[in-house]
Amino acid sequence: MADYLANSGRYPVLPHTKPGELIDALPHCAPEHGEPMSAILEDFQRLIVPAATHWNHPGFMAYFATSASGPGILGEMLSAALNMNGMLWKTSPALVELEQVTLEWLWRSMGFAGNPFGIIFDTASTASMHAIAAAREMAAPEIRAEGNGAGLVLYTSEQSHSSIEKGAITLGIGQKNVRKIPVDAEFRMRPDALAKAIERDRAAGLRPFCIVVTVGTTSTTSIDPVEAIADIAGQHGLWLHVDAAYAGAAALAPEFQHILKGCERADSFLTNPHKWLFTPVDLSALYTRRPDILRRAFSLVPEYLRTADDPRAVNYMDYGVPLGRRFRALKLWFVLRYYGRAGIAEIIRAHIGWAQELARQIDADQRFERTAPTPLSTVCFRLKGADEANRSLLERVNASGEVFLSHTMLHDQYCLRLAIGNIGTTREHVQRAWELVQTAAR
Ligand code: PLP
Repeated sequence: MADYLANSGRYPVLPHTKPGELIDALPHCAPEHGEPMSAILEDFQRLIVPAATHWNHPGFMAYFATSASGPGILGEMLSAALNMNGMLWKTSPALVELEQVTLEWLWRSMGFAGNPFGIIFDTASTASMHAIAAAREMAAPEIRAEGNGAGLVLYTSEQSHSSIEKGAITLGIGQKNVRKIPVDAEFRMRPDALAKAIERDRAAGLRPFCIVVTVGTTSTTSIDPVEAIADIAGQHGLWLHVDAAYAGAAALAPEFQHILKGCERADSFLTNPHKWLFTPVDLSALYTRRPDILRRAFSLVPEYLRTADDPRAVNYMDYGVPLGRRFRALKLWFVLRYYGRAGIAEIIRAHIGWAQELARQIDADQRFERTAPTPLSTVCFRLKGADEANRSLLERVNASGEVFLSHTMLHDQYCLRLAIGNIGTTREHVQRAWELVQTAAR
């Protein structure tokens, strides 16, 4: 593991493997008798590593990086060794209480005051689904017992992550009741369009219940105007959920805390340390000022799990679908302690600085255009010309094996997307990516 982390850049970021190749290389049955560990490790090196996409590669700039740092990996190893299951306080006081401590640290590190209820889920998708379930519970408590009543409507922007719509599908809200509010020229939700949509739905006898805003959208990292939208949520008594899966980390640097302005007014808020906080996948932190409502949505205690009530003993199983829960807080605690808030801020500041530098370089090159503002560490751009040219440009760049960039569609145009967030990435890696793009364009 140490060797791999020290040299992750020596592998091609994307593996040279075809679909099914690893399956074909492995037997169809588990071994009848145990094998020596040396043989297992040899196969790991020979078969598994070459088929891996190297997310810890410093040239990995495709999706929001889930770059695992050494301290985070050590925390993950120890959590596997302890193998606790934190469904109840009693089943693991250390897990439950460290989760509370670590989430309070993270909350305060982002510049927020107070200490709302926090709970760790695997992914932002799961966390948002739970937030929407709480919103539904607040608006229509009869649904828990009787099944979905018609007419609940959720509002989010056309740039929000697909997990919001999936959460609504899962909860029986129905895709037709998810309003995708249009965005402005900078891909931010338009409060005027939101207000109109809510009024239209109310007039039609429907039941608006939840607004989901995004701080740092997936395509362009645009930031919805949270304060204006919080006003609208307040006027209509709607649950406001903030998805800051990627961008929450930026607020560990005080000069970027303004991106979270208004989020303290939300009913729920999530951020993903497994995106830009150097914590191994998976760990998504959900906060809510209304834990009573989240609990009302999910609490169902079978007799064998009944324990004595103590206000300080949190039973996390009451606040969500999963009964069993891994000790995820440990790896985040390791990361926060090892780097410190200021140490993390320094890395994040550097990532944002390199993205801004690249944005200026793209603006200065006549052949290219930037296709969205660059508020944080993600740059969207394209070669002026046809989509096809941009597609083959991206293919060539990624075929180098040195970097991995992704793409998105903006205003119906194919764009390249370079996201910096990996703890091993340096300015040189970003500049090398730009060189590869320029060469491929030539
Ligand atoms: N929300 C946003 C803004 C995202 O960018 C992403 C993924 O990139 C998600 C949610 C989903 O994250 P997860 O994979 O943790 O479900």
